[in-house]
Amino acid sequence: MATHLCSVCGTPTHETRQSIRYDSGSGPVILHEVPVHHCPWCGDHEITLSRAPALRTEVAMCIARKTDRLDPREVRFLREFVGLSRVELADTVGATEALAGAWESLDAPQLMGVQQERLLRVLVITGKRPGQA
Ligand SMILES: [Zn+2]
Repeated sequence: MATHLCSVCGTPTHETRQSIRYDSGSGPVILHEVPVHHCPWCGDHEITLSRAPALRTEVAMCIARKTDRLDPREVRFLREFVGLSRVELADTVGATEALAGAWESLDAPQLMGVQQERLLRVLVITGKRPGQA
């Protein structure tokens, strides 16, 4: 692995992996095993993340591939990622608009149906919008 140099003073840094909070825009997401470079000389630390647009995609892919069921913030994040309104998502996966709202409700959340959730994940992973070939 190439040595990472401190961008402040040029000293070789050492790397650790940390969990960091990332504000996805629809609520915080915790990213695990993120490389963080610590400078032993000046104490600076840098978090190595991909550029922000790519990061949003990475976060979406991580959520879409997780084995646990989606929580309300994750449903919203994925829906916004694929560019669907709540009504469009409801239409796409075959649910009522009220139910689609409940999937994202923080007060009274309701789990998506297994097949509905799978469909949303597939849309994210394939990068396709419903109706596109
Ligand atoms: Zn430094």
